[in-house]
Amino acid sequence: MRGVSKQDLPEKICLVCGRPFTWRKKWKKVWDEVKYCSERCRRSKASGGTKSSS
Ligand SMILES: [Zn+2]
Repeated sequence: MRGVSKQDLPEKICLVCGRPFTWRKKWKKVWDEVKYCSERCRRSKASGGTKSSS
């Protein structure tokens, strides 16, 4: 460990909105699979949602 501060959290770029987002506790186990900053972006990844029947 070399002085990891609380703010030294990993970041990723959202594939949908292109914004950087920071590691969250809820992503602790799935961080490698996280590609979107929010549920909203995750849903809009497929810009032709044919599966959504609402
Ligand atoms: Zn996003």
